[in-house]
Amino acid sequence: MKKWYKRIAISSLLFLMLSAVSVFFAVEYRVDEMFGGQTVAATHLQGKEFQSDYLLKNAQVLNPAGDSFLVGQDVHIRDGLIIRIGENLPAFDPKGQSIPVVNANGHFLIPGYTDSHVHLWRSKNDLLLYLANGVTQVREMHGVQRHLNWKKEIDSGALLGPDLYVVASQLATFGFWEGLWIGWTSERNIVHTPEQASERVQQLAKQGYDAVKASSFVSREIYLAIGQPAKEAGLELLGHIPMEANLDDLFNAQQSEVAHIEEFVKALDRDFGGYTSANGEAFISYVRKYGPELAERVKAKGIAVASTLAIINSFTQQKLDIHSALNEHPIEYMNPGLLESAEMGWLPDVNRYRVDEQYRKDDWRERVEKYWGRYAEAQNILLQEFVSKGVPILAGTDANVPVMVPGFSLHREFQAMVNAGMTAPQVLTSATQAPADWMQWPVGKVHSGYRANLVLLRENPLENIEASRTIESVIIRGNLLDRKTLDQLLNSVKKANDSSRAVDIREYL
Ligand SMILES: [Zn+2]
Repeated sequence: MKKWYKRIAISSLLFLMLSAVSVFFAVEYRVDEMFGGQTVAATHLQGKEFQSDYLLKNAQVLNPAGDSFLVGQDVHIRDGLIIRIGENLPAFDPKGQSIPVVNANGHFLIPGYTDSHVHLWRSKNDLLLYLANGVTQVREMHGVQRHLNWKKEIDSGALLGPDLYVVASQLATFGFWEGLWIGWTSERNIVHTPEQASERVQQLAKQGYDAVKASSFVSREIYLAIGQPAKEAGLELLGHIPMEANLDDLFNAQQSEVAHIEEFVKALDRDFGGYTSANGEAFISYVRKYGPELAERVKAKGIAVASTLAIINSFTQQKLDIHSALNEHPIEYMNPGLLESAEMGWLPDVNRYRVDEQYRKDDWRERVEKYWGRYAEAQNILLQEFVSKGVPILAGTDANVPVMVPGFSLHREFQAMVNAGMTAPQVLTSATQAPADWMQWPVGKVHSGYRANLVLLRENPLENIEASRTIESVIIRGNLLDRKTLDQLLNSVKKANDSSRAVDIREYL
């Protein structure tokens, strides 16, 4: 009799354990899928042998101030660095060995772009999209161990990709069970007390992250306490202005960058009392009134601001006419895992920003237009204030959220910045020198001794920012990728996506 009970008990226990294990793996698989981890790897990810000692002949070189081009310049590139720049440089080294010559044909040589706000999630394929679009540095804003590993592989030359600045995934405060779930499925750094947060920050520094990020959901207490330990551990604090915090808190939090201009719109809106589609005009007046003072305080504190304008500008269109939004963007390059996912989705039925059926009543279109139109207007007003006060602006896209295709979206962002009132040279600086200064990296200028992360353009980007897309070649740590190679990278990603797709997207192409 006893044996019989024992057997039942053991088999129940086994059954429970098995169920727990299968639930665990089912969730892991789902999460991996929704973050694009199931997409086939593109074939061009392996680092190859590229030319690494050569003379780039006859380029127009962007001057260090970033406001004009010097004509007829030769640039000697060796071992990933810019060695010399000048007119008529000899095509042989001091030992008399000849150096291979690459003709730049009078094209425009500028520093490679930095996208200061991206989410790489789980597919390395994005790395190729960045390179093909001239983006030689990206700042990953939800960094986990996976991205630190990629960074190592890229640094060693085993993996082809832009240089990575890895910000540890958001610090956030949630209740115990919710925190466990969110920590697991979205890999955030869940912290409950300032002491715990301080310890976590020290761990993150040891693991090799470059910065820590405040989320909208970190408690005010932790937010105000975390800046100092982060600084002591050698990490920058950046990110959102938490929902529990106000603008005074931002200036006391030792935060060195705000992740989106949008964060200021949200903070001003909290002070305003929450505008609606009915009183948007009053909110805009409020933003105009307090914007100048806000910009002065941001400047005085030395806080940089990432732009992410294009994503916000796209909200109204995505909510009202997702088909036209998808048509405008090259979504064939977008990871189908993310494109199709119910949680992160882009496509009409799953779009993250869609207006749910229950809210599509009466004049909903008009209300969407009024509310989100004002929201975008407010961020554009603030951008102008920040620019006029000399706040460092960092071009960023939030790529991988709809409809920001990695790499391509940075050029969209440039256009949005010009539309909001910045000049083309200012925009170029926001993607080159400004982020380089902020990271203290030897990139962002065409200068001897600097890393050879460069872009050669057919047209002059100082005259028209749209020229940022006229890419003839990209140089990453000295490796020259010509137009043909860049097209191969793009094709290999497109092919990988096509073979991983569950939903036909031809109607959007
Ligand atoms: Zn983001």
